[in-house]
Amino acid sequence: MSTQQKWAFAFEDGDGKNKKLLGGKGANLCEMTQIGLNVPPGFVISTEACLAYLEDTSHALPTGVMDQVRAEMTALEQKTGKGFGNPEKPLLVSVRSGSAMSMPGMMDTILNLGLNQDTLQGEIRATGDARFGYDAYRRFVQLFGKVALGVPDEKFDHEFDEVKRAAHAKQDVDLSAADLKDISERFLKVVEEFTGRPFPSDPYEQLEIAIKAVFNSWSGKRAVDYRTQFKITPDMANGTAVNVCTMVFGNRGDDSATGVGFTRNPGTGENKLYGEYLVNAQGEDVVAGIRTPKPLDRLRVEMPQMAKELDELRDKLETHYKEVQDFEFTIERGQLYCLQTRNGKMNATALVRTSVEMEQEGLITKDQALLRIDPTALEQMLFPRLDPSFKAEAVATGLPASPGAASGIAVFDADRAEQMGRDLGQKVILVREETKPEDIHGFFAAQGILTSRGGKTSHAAVVARGMGKPCVAGAEGISVDVSRREAMVGDTQFKEGDTITIDGSNGRVYLGAIPTVEPEFTEELSVLLSWADEKARLKVMANADTPDDARTALKYGAVGIGLARTERMFNDVDRLPTVIEMIVAETPETRQAALDKLLPLQREDFRQLFEVMAPHPVTIRLLDPPIHEFLPDEHQLEQEIADLRGLAQSTRGMTALAGAMGLLHAPEETRREFDALRRTLDPMLVEDAIAKKEAMLRKVRVLYETNPMLGHRGVRLGITFPEIYQMQIRAILEAAAECQKAGMDAHPQIKVPQVCTAQELLKVKAYVDELHQLVQADYGFPVKFKFGTMIEVVRACMRAESLAEEAEFFSFGTNDLTQAAFSFSREDAENKFLPLYNQSNILHDNPFEVLDVKGVGKLMELAVEWGRKVKPDLHVGICGEHGGHPASIAFCDQAGLDYVSCSGPRVPVARLAAAQAALQQAGRKDL
Ligand code: PEP
Ligand code: MG
Repeated sequence: MSTQQKWAFAFEDGDGKNKKLLGGKGANLCEMTQIGLNVPPGFVISTEACLAYLEDTSHALPTGVMDQVRAEMTALEQKTGKGFGNPEKPLLVSVRSGSAMSMPGMMDTILNLGLNQDTLQGEIRATGDARFGYDAYRRFVQLFGKVALGVPDEKFDHEFDEVKRAAHAKQDVDLSAADLKDISERFLKVVEEFTGRPFPSDPYEQLEIAIKAVFNSWSGKRAVDYRTQFKITPDMANGTAVNVCTMVFGNRGDDSATGVGFTRNPGTGENKLYGEYLVNAQGEDVVAGIRTPKPLDRLRVEMPQMAKELDELRDKLETHYKEVQDFEFTIERGQLYCLQTRNGKMNATALVRTSVEMEQEGLITKDQALLRIDPTALEQMLFPRLDPSFKAEAVATGLPASPGAASGIAVFDADRAEQMGRDLGQKVILVREETKPEDIHGFFAAQGILTSRGGKTSHAAVVARGMGKPCVAGAEGISVDVSRREAMVGDTQFKEGDTITIDGSNGRVYLGAIPTVEPEFTEELSVLLSWADEKARLKVMANADTPDDARTALKYGAVGIGLARTERMFNDVDRLPTVIEMIVAETPETRQAALDKLLPLQREDFRQLFEVMAPHPVTIRLLDPPIHEFLPDEHQLEQEIADLRGLAQSTRGMTALAGAMGLLHAPEETRREFDALRRTLDPMLVEDAIAKKEAMLRKVRVLYETNPMLGHRGVRLGITFPEIYQMQIRAILEAAAECQKAGMDAHPQIKVPQVCTAQELLKVKAYVDELHQLVQADYGFPVKFKFGTMIEVVRACMRAESLAEEAEFFSFGTNDLTQAAFSFSREDAENKFLPLYNQSNILHDNPFEVLDVKGVGKLMELAVEWGRKVKPDLHVGICGEHGGHPASIAFCDQAGLDYVSCSGPRVPVARLAAAQAALQQAGRKDL
């Protein structure tokens, strides 16, 4: 790196759009400064400096960084009229992290830097407030000790609590200047004992150590775990910037305060300033949830002028950023400062409502309204809530910090939550007094989070909302005893392992499990999705097998069924015996007899689907899985036969015993009684049962396959057992004939699975054509339908041209196609080697979840191109799991597919993703 490289940027100069270089926080501080908001002066050290520092094994800051930092500090001295290390007018700064992607609480911050014995006295003289000075000092020593020097928090907490106890202070504000002086001295000793060196007093040495500590926090466990969980890759955020900002103090008395605001309510989306504040406090008190803050409405009474200025700040932020902002502010002796802003993390309900309302207010366009929501966030709107008809008494109430309801066993620390939740698969609720960022792994494993302290903007609340997990915060009626793994609510106790329920929508906490109900679509979501449908090019269909599934799909806005898996219909308990009869049949006649019983049942299945979905298409896939999947397990059969044999032996034994005892020649009455008993255990009946089971066992063994996924399934079944496919085809066409004849606009589509050659398709098409003639003749009515193929075998992609000759549509089965393209078993890979492949970056994603664009996608593109060469109007869609995954949907749009098909509850996600894909495509074309 050349010494000319620019590492440090004053807030007046930094490019507010360059978040990669300056981090989100730094870029916004620059932007806010440049649009005239009241931001304390400061500068940003770039993420490039961070990366250069982390790469260099000498642990020195890159050449030139400290020179530029000194130059910027001199500029700060000029702007503030204070001096860094100057005992007369000390300049104090905060040192904060901030990467391109928001990672709330994951990296480190140090406040009040620049204090030492001399500047502390200067600060006390300048403010005339010894209590304030010592309070600032003890905070600095603790934060610097913890973050920069690695001193465990507990060591400070121990000293703090001791002084507090001796002073009989209930709250921190009850501590006197002398108490705080005592605390700061104890803290200095703690640091010296732990590090073996006195606490650094030179402000520039402090600053250099702090900058390095913030840089190091980028590669700390917390931050790395967070990035892994949220899939934050280096191209999204690489390294953290360091923001050095002049300190302003919200703890300078009752005309000072600090708080966090959202320009709109992040829980409901309501267009009203929302947030919390604490009078006479520093920012960390709000975020850490040490004191429970007051709602911002209260500020209108306590500091009306400040509330007015805050409203103005809110308006300026929203007008400029055109996005809901989550901002931090401090009021220092009647002067309002904005210390940070970022796009507000909101739950899905709020995202949708603000999108619709901001468009209606003219703040954003429809396209922007659609693009600002991560489609997967909509899944939160499908989260369960507590069954209102279930009467239960809440034992405690806290703040409704993140909506949704969840039950689970209480656990009292994050490691335990991880162990019970992630490793043992139990549903857990993480119960804490307050949470710290290092609890993050517990959040991932928990169904919900409950804290006894802290506000709605505390760490627990922000993280839970981002994750869409229910959270009740600040339930002060609960006293948590982590060491004993129990909590008291009034006189009631609950221990680790006891089930509790939380409702993050109203803050209520219950003992025991409470049933939940599915949520409803909001009006705003319907509006937003209707806009999405206007913009989307891809149609969204659903994978649905039953009339109920179909109704759900329709409710969620599906415009057809892209995949009805008929094997699901075979699994019905009442039908299974007939299905088994069909499979074990030894002659064509017995097989036909079973199929004759199945025909009317299947016809009715299809008729109902057509009826629910009319006028939308219903794509029915002929039987796919190997038929032995419907038969009993081989080992179980063997066991049952062995048991029957034992029984047969004992009945035979009885007969022999009777002979030996001369019972067979006994008097008439005794013989009659014995015969009756023998008949109940008639060896012939037992033998008969054994014979049936043995026949079944033989069939199971005949049908056994070492690798059924690559075996006798799909169209291969249809060719070896044509009568099965013929029954299904007839059922589809007859159901269609009934519906169409009755005036219903039914659109049946028949698709054939596992096809790899046009010969297979031709063969099935021949059955279809023949049956079509027959059904039309029977019903005296022309029956409309379409015929197409699944494309889920690599060879099918390669032979797309010849398949397109026979098919009116292609439907990509990307579950099987992924399996085939990678030669990864779709059943086993995800539990065996795939997690390691993902962790070690051999594969970026799980290809069964995220479509592998480079490999599987390439096959798809070829198939689309070749298929349309033969048939330009070939209709093409996808029905594998990827059909509901936003990035995969974007690929499908680019690849020119006509529709995606996914499970019903993912349909809203897919509709929004389809709109975004179209908008992004249009954006690309505009370039
Ligand atoms: C597929 O393979 O993608 C598909 C939709 O079929 P199934 O999952 O039923 O094999
Ligand atoms: Mg398949």
